[in-house]
Amino acid sequence: MLAPLLAARLPAAAGLPSSESGYYFLEGGLPPAGAGVPAAAPAALTTPAPFDVNAIRRDFPVLQETVHGRPLIWLDSAATTQKPQAVIDRLAYFYQHENSNIHRAAHALAAKATDAYEAAREKVRRFLSVPSVDEIVFVRGATEAINLVAQSWGRKNIAADDEIIITWLEHHANIVPWQQLCTETGARLRVVPVDDRGQLRLDAYESLLGPKTKLVAFSHVSNALGTITPARQIIEMARRYDARVLVDGAQAVSHLPTDVKALDCDWYVLSGHKLFAPTGIGVLFGKADVLEAMPPWQGGGNMIRDVTFEKTEYQPPPARFEAGTGSIADAVGLGAAIDYVERIGLENIGRYEQELLGHATRALARIPGLRLIGLAPERAAVLSFVLDGIRSEDVGAALDREGIAVRAGHHCAQPILRRFGLESTVRASLAFYNTFAEIDALAAALLRIRSGTPLVT
Ligand code: PMP
Repeated sequence: MLAPLLAARLPAAAGLPSSESGYYFLEGGLPPAGAGVPAAAPAALTTPAPFDVNAIRRDFPVLQETVHGRPLIWLDSAATTQKPQAVIDRLAYFYQHENSNIHRAAHALAAKATDAYEAAREKVRRFLSVPSVDEIVFVRGATEAINLVAQSWGRKNIAADDEIIITWLEHHANIVPWQQLCTETGARLRVVPVDDRGQLRLDAYESLLGPKTKLVAFSHVSNALGTITPARQIIEMARRYDARVLVDGAQAVSHLPTDVKALDCDWYVLSGHKLFAPTGIGVLFGKADVLEAMPPWQGGGNMIRDVTFEKTEYQPPPARFEAGTGSIADAVGLGAAIDYVERIGLENIGRYEQELLGHATRALARIPGLRLIGLAPERAAVLSFVLDGIRSEDVGAALDREGIAVRAGHHCAQPILRRFGLESTVRASLAFYNTFAEIDALAAALLRIRSGTPLVT
């Protein structure tokens, strides 16, 4: 066997996979659990259990930054999350010790890189409670995952007069690809409305469902309002009409434990960068039989079994949907982010964030002239609001001067803001590294902005 021989010649400090069972591509099998993880973990994880926010904060170097001379308060995690040192170190480790293209070339670094990449796929599988790694496709992000389904499954299965149901809560990434598909095929987009608190109206959903419904696509958690949708119920209702279901989990997976098997959706999508991992990597889960029946959407290297000028035979999933060189190191980084999150525990994270959200909701509700948009009882980590008489963009800029990073704008979800008569809101979004003191600082800053009192430095 080549791999152990090569391994024996390389220094232990290179952090070789601990398994003796050989490398993925040389053996042709799946990597052993833990393969691709450096033997000596590059970063010491300092976070102890139970939940200790101060220890957690020490894991995120950027949280020690100052902005405009003030400590950074990062309340923009719905746009992107910050990265723990363990993820940063894992990326550096990959480029220092493992960098190679994957699945090809019988040499040691190709084997290491492949092991690391495939180990990350296994971590995603476990994280989402998915039966098989073959159901996990690496993509650039949630946007690419949805476009993949729209273009591959959609073009094959959607025809004139078919109906696609989405909701008013959707991010543009879960609207535009379906709209494009409808324009192309003559299918019709139907939209589930929300009530004044930002909850989906299931009665209206029920009345939209019918024999023409071919697909239901909806967010697990809304990025603009934080509404947690009753995903299980929505899927069950779609199943009565044999509709396929895609769940956009971009805003859910860092806040709620996600069991895709229990949800029983056909596709589940996420973006690594909203889960403490690098940008440029995301996941499309697809049920084995659904992926198997989907044609490729991009052609090129890696996704083929055999090519002649006459015809091409494709790989089975997931390789069929991973044409070209992917974000290898970023996938490995996603694996490290999942390890990190799992060590803290999503139950612990969820519990803490709910306390933080409750505190923030109460604190903001006390500010005169502040209107919270979206107050669904089931919410995750998002506070969307407007301040009477002050443009959201000006509120965002004023908060930035105090070192507080929030979003001001339409949050790539124009329809839901317009549902509330708005073109923009201020959005403060939380993660488990935020503190009660940061929320109090936000509320105090908003009070100052509201009363026109300058910040005393
Ligand atoms: N869906 C939701 C709910 C989102 O919040 C986002 C990102 N804001 C996306 C999809 C798109 O994610 P990405 O830009 O990472 O592809």
